[in-house]
Amino acid sequence: MSEETIFSRILRGEIDCDEIYSDEMCLAFRDIQPQAPVHILVIPRKAIPSLREAEIQDESLLGHLLLVSAKIAKLEGLNHWRTVINSGSEAGQTVFHLHIHVIGGRKLNWPPG
Ligand code: 5GP
Repeated sequence: MSEETIFSRILRGEIDCDEIYSDEMCLAFRDIQPQAPVHILVIPRKAIPSLREAEIQDESLLGHLLLVSAKIAKLEGLNHWRTVINSGSEAGQTVFHLHIHVIGGRKLNWPPG
């Protein structure tokens, strides 16, 4: 069982979010602390803590999340963007409900810190 996170509460509508997109598998909303002009999070409705815990049965869900993230980036008018999944605290993960960051709207440096 995965632990309760702030994203579970957002999915249940207990905490407000600036929603961009919703379907039966996922929800996308603006990050509360944006790191770029566009910073959106795409999260599965299924509470998978991180990519480390994803399993083969999550294959189509993960593909769906990636395609939704690209659709949203294009809807936001981005031609260039970064898709990020932090896995584990030392990689920068702070919310242990798998999520994809869609970051764009400015020049992005590489490598990230
Ligand atoms: P992580 O560091 O786990 O990869 O990303 C978690 C992201 O969730 C952070 O960018 C953080 O700003 C965002 N976040 C945390 N709590 C909330 C919240 O309550 N609402 C929204 N919209 N974003 C949140």
